[in-house]
Amino acid sequence: MFRIVTLSVLLCPLLAIAAPRTENVILVTLDGVRIEELFAGMDPAIAASTAEDGYSDIEIARERYWRGTAAERRMALMPFFWGTLVPQGIVLGNPELGSRVKVGNAIKWSSPGYVEIMTGAPQAEVVDNTLVRYPHRTITEYIRGELLLAPSKVAQFGSWDGFKVAAASMDDAFVMNGAYEALPPELSTPDMDLFVALRRDIQGLWEESSNDVLTFRLAQSYLLRHKPRFLWLGLGQSDDWAHAARYDRLLDYLHLSDRLLSELWATLQADETYRERTTLIITTDHGRGRGPADWMEHDESIPGSEDIWIAVIGPDTPATGEAGPLPTVHQGDVAATIARLLQLDPEDFNPQAGPPIDAVWGTGDPEVTASAGPD
Ligand SMILES: [Zn+2]
Repeated sequence: MFRIVTLSVLLCPLLAIAAPRTENVILVTLDGVRIEELFAGMDPAIAASTAEDGYSDIEIARERYWRGTAAERRMALMPFFWGTLVPQGIVLGNPELGSRVKVGNAIKWSSPGYVEIMTGAPQAEVVDNTLVRYPHRTITEYIRGELLLAPSKVAQFGSWDGFKVAAASMDDAFVMNGAYEALPPELSTPDMDLFVALRRDIQGLWEESSNDVLTFRLAQSYLLRHKPRFLWLGLGQSDDWAHAARYDRLLDYLHLSDRLLSELWATLQADETYRERTTLIITTDHGRGRGPADWMEHDESIPGSEDIWIAVIGPDTPATGEAGPLPTVHQGDVAATIARLLQLDPEDFNPQAGPPIDAVWGTGDPEVTASAGPD
């Protein structure tokens, strides 16, 4: 056996690579989550601050999330992410280990980021968060067309209409669900109707965003009922709390979203269609300022807004943990990564798109994994 494998490797390296097992991809985006909290938990500089922003109570947050080391702090904040997801998958973007993930677009707002994720490249005309569709084909449209899927088998759910317009270049390309929208009656269930009704009644911090927990429940119900091959769940309250300068609520939200991710992964592994055939990708649209004075905001003038992260767990991804030194990965590389996971041709999707992230498969030398675009 050893001899055969060795010979195979010599003759054709591809033969030594396991057959792909991903049949479904779930993408979850958490809006504007900084690398500081993700990789190191509660920020020491912000934790030390005695300034009160609004009704923020940093003391309570400190009791909940402050620990002596960064490793303990991130585990206290996101126990599923650090205790299960990363050890069984990979997370890229910790610059202290030499892994960098960057936003490619110059704006570093939400819509330019989501369009970059969906189309595989920064799109120059997307310069703000205006709720309009852009003409570029998205990875979701490509997946549906290439795999000849019914509209219900590709789905987008989000707590903000910006997700919906970034998801496709055309209306009705597949199931897209805006912040306060109902599902088409033929696809909805009493559970989904209830979540939609609650989402309309429960006030968010800003009127354009609905409640993430209800959006999550709606997407989860849809997932179990209609078994989409690709689903994008866009959650946004991390950004809302940060803009409101509520660091305590931001940390509580990250802790909550970690529990939702845990539940999502358990849901996938308990389902015959998804178990061991589904890759979960989690990322963000932009970073934010790095210090106590500017962590709330993000744009091209605020250093740190370009620093993001990508986590992946699934049957084709070896248990790598935290990525070490790698060539810089870009936000636009997510689309080609999704294409390759579903055994589609990234070049055929968009020759201008960033390349698949080889580290997701545990392969690739630096020459191959180096991605185009600004550092
Ligand atoms: Zn955002």
